[in-house]
Amino acid sequence: MNDSDPRPSFDWPVLKPGWVWLCGAGPGDPGLLTLHALNALKQADVVIYDALVQEAILEWAPQAEHIYAGKRGGKPSAKQRDISLRLVDLAREGKRVLRLKGGDPFVFGRGGEEAQTLVQYGIPVRIIPGISAGIGGLAYAGIPVTHRDVNQSVTFVTGHDQSGQTPSSLDWKAIAQGSQVIVIYMGMKHIARIAGELMRAGRPESEPVGVVTTATTSEQQVLETTLGTIVDDIAAAGLEPPAIICVGRSVLMRQVLDWQSQADGIEPRNLDPLGRGRPAESA
Ligand code: SAH
Repeated sequence: MNDSDPRPSFDWPVLKPGWVWLCGAGPGDPGLLTLHALNALKQADVVIYDALVQEAILEWAPQAEHIYAGKRGGKPSAKQRDISLRLVDLAREGKRVLRLKGGDPFVFGRGGEEAQTLVQYGIPVRIIPGISAGIGGLAYAGIPVTHRDVNQSVTFVTGHDQSGQTPSSLDWKAIAQGSQVIVIYMGMKHIARIAGELMRAGRPESEPVGVVTTATTSEQQVLETTLGTIVDDIAAAGLEPPAIICVGRSVLMRQVLDWQSQADGIEPRNLDPLGRGRPAESA
């Protein structure tokens, strides 16, 4: 490790000409990149990045061409194919290609489809996982995605399908009844429908819900609400996507674990937001 290169010494993989590395950039905060992502940024000839990737991250690849491949205003499905084929073309030109995607490339990021296309065209690929917003974004809001006293499972769902509708393949009743904690990606547009389905399937109106927008960035906002009031509260707070929505009692832990509010230190306290009637960490 030295000043100009923060990578610890290690046998770092080499990004070869004609290869594509499909890499997660984490949810926003550049510090949440992996060292493999940094290693890739140092070597790339071209970085193709999505809308959710913080541009500051590109400063680690000053030698590379930066291509924005966000889908603002485009038809998502047509555009996706174009992006995949662009990757193929760049690799065939002998470029070292870094495809940088928000969060983890294989979590609701269409990374699987891009990799599939590359393989189909005989382009060698490496996958570099990233911190997904549904885990890391919640952690930045002080919400543990699992907590021993709340959940032994967690369900990640998308609120959109390819057509922009709530996915018809999702059985909301089964999800409501079988999932202790539900983490919803891309849920803002259809939140009224989703909250309604969950309540119809038996989740109480009082069920805690956390909404975290632009998580891990300096613009992060967090709303604590309930299934019954979420629609009005999102409107009142003027929240906009991207947002992660977490449904379940783990949201209550934020009352203790909102670490970002503790910058100036904290008083010791033993709150019991889960109402267990016993202190933290007793057996
Ligand atoms: N591959 C990404 C998810 C891509 S889908 C990942 O693993 O995180 C895009 C959705 O991810 C957004 O609509 C939003 O629901 C969520 N998301 C991504 N980054 C986010 C962020 N910084 N804050 C809140 N939600 C985010």
